[in-house]
Amino acid sequence: MLKSLIEPFRYRRPGAAMEAAAEGQTAGDKGKRKPRAKNTSRTLKQMWSYLIAYKRKLAAVIFMVMLSSGFSLLGPYLAGTAIDHFLMNRGSGFVVFLIGMAVVYALHSITMWLQNIWMISISQKTVYLMRVQLFEHLHRLPIPYFSKRQHGELMSRVTNDIENVSSSLNSSVIQVFSSALLLIGTVSVMLSLSPLLTLLTFLVVPLMLFGMKWITKQTGRLFKAQQRNLGDLNGYIEETLSGQRIVKAFSQEQTVISAFKERNERIRISGFWAQAISGFIPKLMNALNNLSFAIIAGIGAIFVLNDSITVGVIVIFAEYSRQFTRPLNDLANQWNTLLSAVAGAERVFDVLAEEEERKDEGAARELAEVKGSVVFDKVMFAYEERAATISDVSFHAAPGETIALVGPTGAGKTTLIQLLCRFYDPSSGSIMIDGHDSRTIKRENLRSHMAFVLQDPFLFEGTIRENIRYGKLDATDADVEEAARLANAHSFIVRLKDGYSSILRPDGSGISQGQKQLLAIARAILANPSILVLDEATSSIDTVTEIKIQEALQRLMQGRTSFVIAHRLNTIKQADQIVVLQDGAIIEKGSHVQLLERKGFYSSLVKGQLNNGLCEVSESATK
Ligand code: ADP
Repeated sequence: MLKSLIEPFRYRRPGAAMEAAAEGQTAGDKGKRKPRAKNTSRTLKQMWSYLIAYKRKLAAVIFMVMLSSGFSLLGPYLAGTAIDHFLMNRGSGFVVFLIGMAVVYALHSITMWLQNIWMISISQKTVYLMRVQLFEHLHRLPIPYFSKRQHGELMSRVTNDIENVSSSLNSSVIQVFSSALLLIGTVSVMLSLSPLLTLLTFLVVPLMLFGMKWITKQTGRLFKAQQRNLGDLNGYIEETLSGQRIVKAFSQEQTVISAFKERNERIRISGFWAQAISGFIPKLMNALNNLSFAIIAGIGAIFVLNDSITVGVIVIFAEYSRQFTRPLNDLANQWNTLLSAVAGAERVFDVLAEEEERKDEGAARELAEVKGSVVFDKVMFAYEERAATISDVSFHAAPGETIALVGPTGAGKTTLIQLLCRFYDPSSGSIMIDGHDSRTIKRENLRSHMAFVLQDPFLFEGTIRENIRYGKLDATDADVEEAARLANAHSFIVRLKDGYSSILRPDGSGISQGQKQLLAIARAILANPSILVLDEATSSIDTVTEIKIQEALQRLMQGRTSFVIAHRLNTIKQADQIVVLQDGAIIEKGSHVQLLERKGFYSSLVKGQLNNGLCEVSESATK
């Protein structure tokens, strides 16, 4: 049930981005926390804690990396030695060297292939686990977490960021490790062959290091910006697509498109610079490589003439100098990919580190049965960083009573309901259910005694039968049908081509708003709760369906404590108590007749035909 509530209670409604854009503010700016200082070492440690689960395979990968690095060192060495051998012995034994080299290169390929396959398997298992953990965790996070964030941005973490981690685990980790090994190996062999020539070859190293450091610093920043911009764009697309109706209804297509273009442009710019600058790395390396090659060839020739080294050593050096700059080059390239993966992983770990919905206290009780007495006792509540939203609210609903919550938009009606079902807890005061403080009742148990019929009911992609059964998962087909009959939904369902097996689209389109309400009522009837929350639809529904809804609701509300966020005078009139809210406080309460006699706010609302825009009661409903 909880899942179904998240969507309707979201504070950021679809289309908010459009309005924000109109105010010259981006949706991303609005809902985003300040970027936190990046903690690479902590993130790496966390990633390591995942990888360690596959330590045997990882050890095998490391072993293969060592072997392949050894083979790639051996190849040029054999080539150089073969040349010397050939020059000295006039060709004899040359074939043996050739065969040796072929074997070495073949082994090199095999070890490379094995390390790749094994690492891919480790990385796929790791990201599989991360995805599951992240998804499960998202479903355990408290509602306030979602109300502060765009859905698309969160989706981007589950998909893009994790994909980034996966691809860099596949290749970058191996690359970085083998590059480091190759570097050490190459330098050691070079030093053992000719320390002087090695030193001369290394003349270009400071230039390389300096250039690489500068480039990686720039690209790291740019890649991070690109990822952030991509997340922002995803969020915006999701928001505008789900708010399509509102966008169209307010003819805001152009505003939305230009806000999209702005975000797209930001990605283009950061993407251009990130790739342009990182693409510069190989060019720089190549130039410096050629420089070191020239040094080896020129100075090496002099050494050969002096007889201090052989021609074979020059060949080995020339090859190694290439091998030596390649790992540096790879390190620089892969370092970037690693950085962007670490940034992605950090965003994933950030979500995982978010505190879950507070565990029910140890003493949390489960109520087997709820009669439906609800008492709000001096309830105060404030959303984070805001002044009190609800102040000193007290009222008592006896079992079976209907309470109409009335008041201007923003008065706190929805907030009261969210407190009732413990999406939030009061900052002071208490809410008692059958005499028990709601904070001592397990959330899940409390919510199992409640059902919700909201303005825009949550319907998922599945059959009508499954959608109704969402109210009680073990209900039989006969129970489902019975509930649908009581909800006046049966007749329209059987008229559909596939009846109860008709598939609803994810957004519930394909059936009318009124029919959606009837399904929500059927679902609530099936759930058979003691406490009912009803958010009356403001949109006008055709008269026939409206009558059906009213009739079904009467049946549903019978014998249950019902809280109705009411918009129609008829509903309000029939309520046992009307609670009139303004700015989070109760300004009047009583029955319709009592409140009219008081000649206060409520009576002026009703008399003034509620057309001063202060109340959500629709005019047509007052006739
Ligand atoms: P109503 O349902 O009567 O229209 P709400 O309970 O939705 O009113 O809102 C009461 C006040 O609390 C409003 O000022 C609204 O802006 C604010 N509010 C609602 N939800 C949130 C939230 N998640 N975070 C911060 N403020 C909120």
